[in-house]
Amino acid sequence: MSNTEHAGHVSVSTDCTAQHGSPQLLHISSREAIVGDDMVIRRALPNPLKRMIGAWCFLDHAGPAEIANKDGLRVGPHPHIGLQTFTWMIEGEVLHRDSLGCVQLIRPGQVNLMTAGRGIVHSEESPAEHPPRLHAAQLWIALPDQYRHINPAFDHYPNLPVLQRDGFSITVLAGDTLGQRSPARIYSPLVGLDFTATGPARTMMPVQPDFEYGVMVMAGSARIEGETLLPGCLLYLGCGRHELHLEVHEPTRFLLLGGEPFNEEILLWWNFVGRTPDDIIAATDAWNTGNGFDKIPNCTGRPLTAPALPDSIKPVA
Ligand code: MN
Repeated sequence: MSNTEHAGHVSVSTDCTAQHGSPQLLHISSREAIVGDDMVIRRALPNPLKRMIGAWCFLDHAGPAEIANKDGLRVGPHPHIGLQTFTWMIEGEVLHRDSLGCVQLIRPGQVNLMTAGRGIVHSEESPAEHPPRLHAAQLWIALPDQYRHINPAFDHYPNLPVLQRDGFSITVLAGDTLGQRSPARIYSPLVGLDFTATGPARTMMPVQPDFEYGVMVMAGSARIEGETLLPGCLLYLGCGRHELHLEVHEPTRFLLLGGEPFNEEILLWWNFVGRTPDDIIAATDAWNTGNGFDKIPNCTGRPLTAPALPDSIKPVA
């Protein structure tokens, strides 16, 4: 997806760093944003209270949306640098096309992982004939400095490890847990788990004390470390924990995200992750002038326009 907020905010990763080693309980309200023409999503990261959880630097929750007799998701060609886009499909279908020539329909239970590296262009659209509902999460993962200029790549994961625990069905989206490892190609220590329960369930999940964690409910409600969570709220849990107490009383789905605190300052602007204003300016110029990003083969979608650079990033005249 694409960050279409034009409010002029640059997300700087070091303005609210983790309190190293200490657990926290911080409720973060997501805000609504529009992606594509009219798809309303909830954006939980970045947020003024918390920019990142490990290398996870962007978290959009789309739907569940009724899109029968509608176009559905329409995100035209747009560029990315310095990050991976991680799409987790819960209901519906989305067609991904990119400048490497990859064309991939993603279905429920599957992950699309696009590694932008030094630069890629993609579009994400509901197929003309699509299921009546769309429900998905899209996350971005910042690439560590030593990997941020690698060649772009696209991976589709149709099958992910699923394990059963105390009434929860747990899909290992990224990283590993309880001896199960996701095949997703990642570049820093992190974990992403989808928890689904069809009724009451309660478990204690072992976690890594050197990781920071957060939980976001996508449907239903959950009690996490005694805190009640509803859709639209991200609970930031901090570091230094060895276990998490997870409890639900109704059909519920939530994401548990974690990672080693990302100790590099990043700048996140529009669809770009860089380190300096010059990185962002160069990528924006490359996109606006049509020089520097490859095109999506046979693509007829309307390319997105980069928003005007904020004052904090504009080149010195
Ligand atoms: Mn995108």
